[in-house]
Amino acid sequence: MKEKIVVLGSNGQIGTELVSMLRKIYSVDAVVACDIRRPDYDIKNSGPFEFVNVLDKEMLLNIFNKHKPTQVYLLAALLSATGEQNPKLAWDLNMNGLLNVLDFALQFKTAKFYWPSSIAVFGPHSPKDVTPQYCIMDPNTVYGTSKLAGERWCEYYYLKYGLDIRSIRYPGLISWRAAPGGGTTDYAIHIFHDALKKAGYESFLSAETELPMMYMDDAIRGTIELMDAPASQISVRSSYNFAGISFTPVELATEIKKHIPNFELTFSKGDPRQQIAGGWPKSIDDSIAREDWGWKPEFDLAKITADMLNNLKR
Ligand code: NAD
Repeated sequence: MKEKIVVLGSNGQIGTELVSMLRKIYSVDAVVACDIRRPDYDIKNSGPFEFVNVLDKEMLLNIFNKHKPTQVYLLAALLSATGEQNPKLAWDLNMNGLLNVLDFALQFKTAKFYWPSSIAVFGPHSPKDVTPQYCIMDPNTVYGTSKLAGERWCEYYYLKYGLDIRSIRYPGLISWRAAPGGGTTDYAIHIFHDALKKAGYESFLSAETELPMMYMDDAIRGTIELMDAPASQISVRSSYNFAGISFTPVELATEIKKHIPNFELTFSKGDPRQQIAGGWPKSIDDSIAREDWGWKPEFDLAKITADMLNNLKR
């Protein structure tokens, strides 16, 4: 079957990298990038781009009619920190955007559907260490609540209508190509920019805040591996736990100091993102993803730090 892939929310931190990888794999014209905002990256020049608002059913209908996608990736969302600033909009976009696109995927018989969840589905009463796939989940942000509800909808569309849905609970993603979209783990990107610019960074998360993180290269590879896996190997249709590494701001700073010895880390107090981070796991048990479709991360903290600094320097 000739693949036609539509990526909705293509211009963000993940979309910019996912679109270019999918275009390498499937050809430039096979991948249609779609976003509500103009691409400030070279997505538009490197292949087809369409303006699409996932809350506008007319626009979605046009896109599905025009491209008849065999695969849809839905990345449009408001993230954890920005979501808390505008909870109603976050709920509307994250929930109704998902339901709109799920319905068109059904109507147009899209063969495979990808939608990312997040470690934000866990909450203060979830186990913090090596958090299992199935446990108490009591997210206390609108973002986490919308992701948990979204996971239930994804599983429902799979069980009830047979839509081939695949999903991953991403940890905080670290990358250098595009700016992060307003998440709680963004500090782990800003720190590299400031390390190179001024050999110092003021962290909005406290010294000992340990969170699950992953390098973007691993996240994109894992996403495509999940989408390529035979349906018979996918046992989780809500969203898979997915892990790279875990570290604190101090551990990250120690690694950066190996490259920039005079680097200094300081801390601000009272940032609302500290409270969000406090409700999240420190590390994730991703054994089901490893068993089902062979997931294995490649980037440790030393490799991430060296790669970030080398690329940002350029
Ligand atoms: P981002 O904020 O960088 O990008 C989201 C994109 O969606 C933006 O380009 C934005 O313009 C677009 N968008 C917003 N509203 C839209 C609408 N109504 N219609 C169409 N497009 C719209 O986010 P990201 O970091 O690339 O995240 C993508 C997905 O991955 C989200 O679902 C997010 O929750 C999830 N995720 C990301 C991370 C991370 O660390 N980046 C971690 C966990 C989960």
